[in-house]
Amino acid sequence: MASHPLITRAVYAVAILLFGVVTLVAASQGQPQGSTQGATQVGGQGEARGQGRGAQPAPPMPVFPAAISADVLRGQYGAYRANNDLLYYHLDVRVDPEAKTIGGKNTIRFKMLKDDTRIQLDLFANLNVDKILFLGSVGASGSTGVSGSAPLVYYRQLNTVFVEFPQTLKTGQTYAIDFYYSGTPLQSGRFGGFTFGTDPQGRPWIYTACEGQGAASWWPNKDQWRDEVESMEISVAIPNGLTDVSNGKFIGKTDLGDGYTRWDWMVQYPINNYSVSVNIGNYVHYSEQLGDMPMDFYTLPDDQARAKPQFAQAKGMLQAYAKYFGEYPFKKDGYKLIQVPYSGMEHQSAVTYGNRFANGYLERDWTGVGVSPKFDFIIIHESAHEYFGNAVSAADVSDMWIHEGWATYLESLYVEYTFGYGDMLKYTNGYKTKVANQTPIIAPRGIHREPPQDMYFKGALFINTLRSIVNDDTKWFKLLYDMFQKFKYQNVMTEDIIAFFNAQTGKNLTPIFDQYLRHAALPTLDLKFDDAAKTVSYRWRVDEPGFNMPIKVGKAGAWQIIQPTTEWKSMPTAFTRDSFEVATDLYFVNVSKQ
Ligand SMILES: [Zn+2]
Repeated sequence: MASHPLITRAVYAVAILLFGVVTLVAASQGQPQGSTQGATQVGGQGEARGQGRGAQPAPPMPVFPAAISADVLRGQYGAYRANNDLLYYHLDVRVDPEAKTIGGKNTIRFKMLKDDTRIQLDLFANLNVDKILFLGSVGASGSTGVSGSAPLVYYRQLNTVFVEFPQTLKTGQTYAIDFYYSGTPLQSGRFGGFTFGTDPQGRPWIYTACEGQGAASWWPNKDQWRDEVESMEISVAIPNGLTDVSNGKFIGKTDLGDGYTRWDWMVQYPINNYSVSVNIGNYVHYSEQLGDMPMDFYTLPDDQARAKPQFAQAKGMLQAYAKYFGEYPFKKDGYKLIQVPYSGMEHQSAVTYGNRFANGYLERDWTGVGVSPKFDFIIIHESAHEYFGNAVSAADVSDMWIHEGWATYLESLYVEYTFGYGDMLKYTNGYKTKVANQTPIIAPRGIHREPPQDMYFKGALFINTLRSIVNDDTKWFKLLYDMFQKFKYQNVMTEDIIAFFNAQTGKNLTPIFDQYLRHAALPTLDLKFDDAAKTVSYRWRVDEPGFNMPIKVGKAGAWQIIQPTTEWKSMPTAFTRDSFEVATDLYFVNVSKQ
């Protein structure tokens, strides 16, 4: 997503509010005494929806562990997430703009990594679980090999749904369930989560943007970052005359004969949950080709003429990113830009756009140095996430700089490719005014804690610093290309990226990564001059004891590289305290001269 001009924690506020107001029901009929904790809602067979309760005794209820905190439920890759590997979703829903409801099912196919009888899924507490059906084990053909399906027992705790299986699911076996749900999603978060809106003509305009609060705010899934399905089908039934644009390749639409039409989309790559989206409106469509890849553009009818010249930037942008990182990573699904009323979001292969068809960011000069008015910030930034965020994804939200720091750095690369090195340096250094240095970029893990805004700007300035450390552009661009190719379609952590950089450069860059990402403070280069003796003493003042970053000093254009450590060193210099320069546009550091 695009960084907010003001640091906001709206997502958390909403989450806290939500957890605070949920009424938790203790037990359903037929439940043995003491088998669950108070903060758990039980459904499924015990409730015997349509199954003729009383016809046969309900099976014994499994014992559920003590209540888990909301942070941990949401963020931890706990035992009932780690015991399975997602393979496939088919989200098949009907959206009613008048009633403002969504309902349907998600078919979830997963492989067990461990023998177990329970898995953890997520659906916000305000949405109904209608039923969860066990489709049995899935054979090689994809069929379940069982006829019929059995309703499963489930437990709800806050926004989590623990699904219980009547038999042990076996390691290595693939299973499937149909998770039926319905309700009215809460509007929440910065971009609304799931919004039933209207366009300027008063027609329905319904859209999702749920990074932060999570996809479980509007559909049931395993809502975490580490595990992604390999592929996904999205079917959205909407009133005739409207268009749904979702992720992936458009498969077709079917008139359901009841005033609704179902739009089917196929995602042929791994996809993170928050990227899954519906965009429903009175869209008109045009397309272009980039080589053999289709590029599809969806706008409201009145805006198409304004959109066309602006959206033309998408082609050059994809060419720029392809030069640095290789082919667009979701080629089979194509590239789409879709008009929405909020600023924009990186939905995989279906980037949403609301930047007023103007350059800059919401008609402002984004880094304040005259470069961003030359391009459309939202097209460039949100599409950069196709590479970092969607193709290379972080495995925990704590390491979200892998999405935002890198996407911000890709803006710099786009500027370098399109407008030249000088503009790139200006643009990148323009970010310095947005850096706070108050909190480390990497947030605590396992509790779905979003990092501070420094993950964008300090993240990009750090990557630009790494380029100066490598100090060989041929090597640097090969490193970038190789890193993307190695990690694409994977969910990785910072440690994976550090290990890659260390291996490729033959250097121990870990203390440098750690200082920039795991500490709040910037490195400070301490300089002490003895003008009479014509010497300068230098050292790094940092939190990481092993920090030993090289840096260019002396005079611009004739830089000398020194290797300060945290211990004082001294060298002769021809420059005085005032004339001694440090390449602070190439390295993001503080300088203290004494
Ligand atoms: Zn972003």
